[in-house]
Amino acid sequence: MAIHERSLVEPERIVRKERLVIDGVDVSGDWNLLILPRVINDYDLDFGKEVLNTPEGKTINQCYQCSYCTASCPIHNYWDERYNPRHFIYLARLGMIDELQKRVDVMWRCVSCHKCTHRCPKGVLVEEVIKAILKVMAKRGLAEEYPSKKFDKFFTESVVEYGRIEDGELLFGWIEKQGYKVFKDPILKKPIPFVGDTPEWLKQLTMKPIKSMNIDFLLLNAKHMLFHPKTKNWNKFKQVLRKVMQEEGALH
Ligand code: SF4
Ligand code: SF4
Repeated sequence: MAIHERSLVEPERIVRKERLVIDGVDVSGDWNLLILPRVINDYDLDFGKEVLNTPEGKTINQCYQCSYCTASCPIHNYWDERYNPRHFIYLARLGMIDELQKRVDVMWRCVSCHKCTHRCPKGVLVEEVIKAILKVMAKRGLAEEYPSKKFDKFFTESVVEYGRIEDGELLFGWIEKQGYKVFKDPILKKPIPFVGDTPEWLKQLTMKPIKSMNIDFLLLNAKHMLFHPKTKNWNKFKQVLRKVMQEEGALH
């Protein structure tokens, strides 16, 4: 018997004898596979409600567990099967915190590609819900602040400040924040790529997308890096946005 979603069953709960003969009948192989029951006695139904009450978690209860999200998730399919958005939502709603904690090392690995959200037939904002689950776990001291949250903070701050995403500024600002020395021109104080002690891996990481850009796009990016374009009336809107985000607890 094949196990559906084997990654959800801990190896120690799977019992299978290499060779098993019962009443003279050889039932070796998959036929003698047994899954020991899981004993759960610690539900916390408030957990799901807490996730629901975060700005990112509002759609958690729309999920009807079809697993389209998991089937389309690159992290689940190409990195680690334990990363399973459908299952995280299931555990969070039931308040099975122990089970969530067993997976906390993979839960922050989402790359925000939004395939899950795009495919979900119930309109669940899957990526946001996963972040909300992690947020509640961190608030309760059940998980450390996940590493990608640092980037999320930086990204959000950049968008709120300028009203748009500026790739070059975001990339070099992030590199600088990681402790690497970024050289800047003395007048506009803008970063000069690849001058200084840029590590090799970072050069390659940056060069890859640059090589695939056409010249017009490259020039446009360079221009935007030098003279940051402004979104019209953004300063007024920014104040309102910050206030709303603060009220909703959405500012990191
Ligand atoms: S695709 Fe949507 S409804 Fe289906 S399991 Fe994922 S979140 Fe739930
Ligand atoms: S956004 Fe995250 S959870 Fe959704 S498909 Fe992409 S990696 Fe998976």
